[in-house]
Amino acid sequence: MGSESSVIVSLRGLAKNFGTVRAVDGVDLDIYQGEFLTLLGPSGSGKTTVLRMIAGFEIPDAGRIELNGKEITHLPAYERDVNTVFQDYALFPHMDVISNIEYGLRVKGIGKVERRAQAMLALQQVRLDGYENRKPNQLSGGQRQRVALARALVNRPAVLLLDEPLGALDLKLREQMQIELKELQREVGITFIFVTHDQEEALTMSDRVAVFDRGKIQQLDKPATIYENPANSFVAGFVGISNLITGAASVSLLGKSGTWLVRPEKIEVDSAQSGGRRATGKIREVEYFGPATRFLVDLDVGISLMALRQNTSESATSVATMRNSKVTVSWDIESEYNVEK
Ligand code: ATP
Repeated sequence: MGSESSVIVSLRGLAKNFGTVRAVDGVDLDIYQGEFLTLLGPSGSGKTTVLRMIAGFEIPDAGRIELNGKEITHLPAYERDVNTVFQDYALFPHMDVISNIEYGLRVKGIGKVERRAQAMLALQQVRLDGYENRKPNQLSGGQRQRVALARALVNRPAVLLLDEPLGALDLKLREQMQIELKELQREVGITFIFVTHDQEEALTMSDRVAVFDRGKIQQLDKPATIYENPANSFVAGFVGISNLITGAASVSLLGKSGTWLVRPEKIEVDSAQSGGRRATGKIREVEYFGPATRFLVDLDVGISLMALRQNTSESATSVATMRNSKVTVSWDIESEYNVEK
């Protein structure tokens, strides 16, 4: 990616209403060739509707969609060089794996030998060689989702649209599939537009993330920028745990007005950092979860902050005794981000 990359999908002034609901409210977005771009947002924020308009399943009320420099706003879905992978796989239950994957090629009239070869390649890409003769009901959820991916990839679309594709999988499988999907995307070089409401998933997989709220993009940036330097308090709160210091607390602790964000892992409990901020308080909650511990600290200035500490030497029992103790918390001034003036 970078300035030399070409724009493959361009959205301008995109809007869509459902009755009185303004589902998408003026979206401008350029997506680059080969990019993994995620549309992230809470339920009802409009991300799926944007994806469905790119796919051609919804027609916008206003705005324009271009694919590879050509306007496709009103083109029927089947004439667009895009494929969609859904959460519920949508495989044909009566067909075996290889026939499911070949389906699109058969519709296009590609000969038997050629389409079998291409389908086998797609099957290898999703690491399912040997499963070609199984029926969908003889596969696990993760395997079914791989077949759905292979079925889309075999068509070599310019853009692959993914609508919460990992949503039905349990956490462990989901995390494994996130890594595999990202690897696969690098390998095939196809542009992925991925919809999720899961912020961790978005941060792990994407080259860039567009954060949606109420039909609008609130921020479009690389994952690290979204996390470390959120554009406003909505993004700060939706992506990661947000410790916001605002109002009187901000004036008394930081000597400045406005709303400021400090992420939990930047806050130290009971250890003074030179040149940094310091505040006293009492630990209300201790949550030990293996690699780290979360502390919820009620500060004397009247706000609460979450601090995260790696368990390099602590045990569950040693951190549990810290509940209700009086502590000093501290952080570096560079860890404060202004999210509202
Ligand atoms: P989710 O994660 O729950 O799918 P989302 O961010 O993808 O949410 P959309 O599905 O795009 O949100 O929906 C945006 C808004 O438009 C919501 O208020 C939703 O109820 C509404 N909406 C979406 N599709 C339709 C429809 N076909 N008819 C009526 N309202 C709809």
